[in-house]
Amino acid sequence: MRRLEFLNARFNAGLAMVEKPEGLGGLSLSADAQKRVESRFDRAGAPDNDPLSININIGQAIPALMFAGTDEQKRDLIRPLWTGELVCCQLFSEPDAGSDLASVRTRAIKVQDGWRVSGHKIWTSLAHKADLAILLARTSTEGRAHDGLTYFLIDMRQPGVQIEPLRQITGQAEFNEVFLSDAFVPEGYAIGEVNGGWAVAMATLESERAFYGVRQLPRESGMIGELCREWRTQRHLHAADGFDDRVCRAWIDAEVFRIANIRLSERMAAGENASEASGSKIRFAQLNQEIAWLRLELAGAEVGRTADYAFSRPERTEFLSAEPIFSYLRSRANSIEGGTTEIMKNVIADRVLNLPRR
Ligand SMILES: Cc1cc2nc3c(=O)[nH]c(=O)nc-3n(C[C@H](O)[C@H](O)[C@H](O)COP(=O)(O)OP(=O)(O)OC[C@H]3O[C@@H](n4cnc5c(N)ncnc54)[C@H](O)[C@@H]3O)c2cc1C
Repeated sequence: MRRLEFLNARFNAGLAMVEKPEGLGGLSLSADAQKRVESRFDRAGAPDNDPLSININIGQAIPALMFAGTDEQKRDLIRPLWTGELVCCQLFSEPDAGSDLASVRTRAIKVQDGWRVSGHKIWTSLAHKADLAILLARTSTEGRAHDGLTYFLIDMRQPGVQIEPLRQITGQAEFNEVFLSDAFVPEGYAIGEVNGGWAVAMATLESERAFYGVRQLPRESGMIGELCREWRTQRHLHAADGFDDRVCRAWIDAEVFRIANIRLSERMAAGENASEASGSKIRFAQLNQEIAWLRLELAGAEVGRTADYAFSRPERTEFLSAEPIFSYLRSRANSIEGGTTEIMKNVIADRVLNLPRR
């Protein structure tokens, strides 16, 4: 069976996202059952939907549609977003609107049959391979800044959308600047109410944070898996005092993080406060940065001189690499992307601990 045919059949069988309703890739089961589905498909050698190349589809666009989309939007879009037939990027951040997202200035002006959008977006991951984007744009300048925003889906492959690469410290241009000049959004492509985009954006960001932090990887996989493999084969080269202890500490921290995330995802699936995912987002960034540093120490300083920093435009979001220097440099962004560590701490203070504002 061809890959796409298989993915569509899996969607039809309700085994794409089992917690979703029938017809939308699910069977209205507990989200927990998804793990069993994934492991059975994995063991059988089934192709997947390449989640790292469509992380915005899965972590943001589909949750936004589930939160505020019309039945028609859900029916038309969730399937191709899950199979990867459509690739979505996120047009939220602007040069003067990052943490303070309510300051978005990109304007959407109502015209016949739709909207004309003009503005400047920045840090747009994988825009160069996107078919469409989730877009936050200003539709009103009256009242509170939060109340004048609308959440749209916009076609990225139209003349009014110009995409320029932004090169990162790794050498890659994973993200881009996007200039919108009278780009067109047809009627029916607002998700949620006009001027009601803030709530949809907040729901999207909550899913994004959960997606970063609460992903469930098998024991000793991901970044810690790379470190352990390298440590087992190369530790004799770098026997610095206390290094073995620090690797063991990292292993324990990664395992505690993994188990805590299993508990958190079960609580989220049961409808409990998802704001705690902000804690996982912080820990995800800290752990990646600590482990990436250990990989670099183990590899020795010379890897920085021999590494390949060549310009490229990647096809997927990749934190790991065979090159420890790449993982180290890429991990610096983990505490910025998807909400900075400082903002996550504010969210925890406000929505988890209910601390009083000063
Ligand atoms: C690898 C990567 C990929 C990204 N991909 C995308 C994407 O696809 N789409 C998209 O829209 N955006 C994307 N972003 C942008 C990201 O969401 C923003 O960088 C992030 O929200 C921070 O905004 P900013 O860069 O404007 O920093 P600012 O908001 O200007 O923050 C600067 C510093 O001030 C601190 N700060 C700001 N406000 C407060 C506060 N109230 N309290 C305490 N400290 C504060 C911040 O923590 C930070 O340290 C990406 C970023 C990275 C690094």
